[in-house]
Parts: sequence; structure tokens; C-alpha cells
Amino acid sequence: MPSGHVHNLINSSVFALLAANGYISTRAGILIPLPSQMLAFSGGFWVGTLLLSPDLDLATQRVNSKRNWGMWGWIWHPYGMMFTHRGLSHSYFFGPLTRVFYLGAILIPLGYLLRPALWRIRSVWHLEPRVWIALVLGYYVSQWLHLIADGIPFNHGWRRLKHHYSRFAK
Ligand SMILES: [Zn+2]
Repeated sequence: MPSGHVHNLINSSVFALLAANGYISTRAGILIPLPSQMLAFSGGFWVGTLLLSPDLDLATQRVNSKRNWGMWGWIWHPYGMMFTHRGLSHSYFFGPLTRVFYLGAILIPLGYLLRPALWRIRSVWHLEPRVWIALVLGYYVSQWLHLIADGIPFNHGWRRLKHHYSRFAK
């Protein structure tokens, strides 16, 4: 299994390729992305690569993506306890959502407390749909690159769910 550094290297290389490709396509008039879309895609991609990596399922140990959270790394400890390594956390559709929802569950109460400060940046929720799509796409692409590098089969999530269900049904 590739280490955190190798994952970062793979993701950075693919990002450079995508950026070069995007630049050429834009120059050729094939692709006309908005600057906000490019920013959203890049933001989603790097957050997914550095901060919301599937390997946070190892957060009970020392792992790169947990270290990137600095003094807040411990917030991922329960996530590491909840998810077995390369289990549902490493599924293509559901896995990336588990980390977003987990973080949301922590940040929403905090956001409620800090709402006067958040009031000022509320414009983020008014992103246009096409900018949201770029953000989500950037995030998912970063996650899929990780899963492909890990050699995870595409039906992994489905197989895991079926496995859990068949255990309950017995
Ligand atoms: Zn992994």
C-alpha cells in the first residue's frame, strides 16, 4: 500500500497534468472554465488530498493526513476507531462522504457558537451550482486517485455493505 508521501506525489503529478491540460484546452477554446470554478476544483482537490484523505481511518495511529491538521489532528481519532482501515472509508462513493459528514457533525455545533464570525463568510453558501460541482468534482477526483493507487476495486463499497448486511440478516 502506498505511503502518505507516495499518495501526495501521485495526486500532485495528476494535478499538474490536469492543470496543463486545462490550460491548453482553455487556450484552444475547447474548455471555458470560470476562474471561480478552477479555484473551487483546486480547493476541493487539495483539501481531499491533504486533509480528508481516506487514510484518516488510521487516525488512531500516526498518519500524514492527521498530522496535516496540526493541533486539531485528534478530532479524527474517533473516525479512526469507527472505520476499519480500507473498509467503507475506502469506497468510491460513500467513503468520501463519511469524512465530510463526520467533519460536518463536529463543525456544525461549533459553527453555531461562532455564528457571528461565520455570518461574514456566509457568501460561501451562495456559490453557483456550477462552482459547487467543480468543488465536489475536485474533492472526488483526489479521493479516487488515492483509491486507485491503493488498488481498491470499484464495487468495494457495495461489497462491504452487502457483507455487513448478510451478517445482520443471520
Ligand atoms: Zn489508503
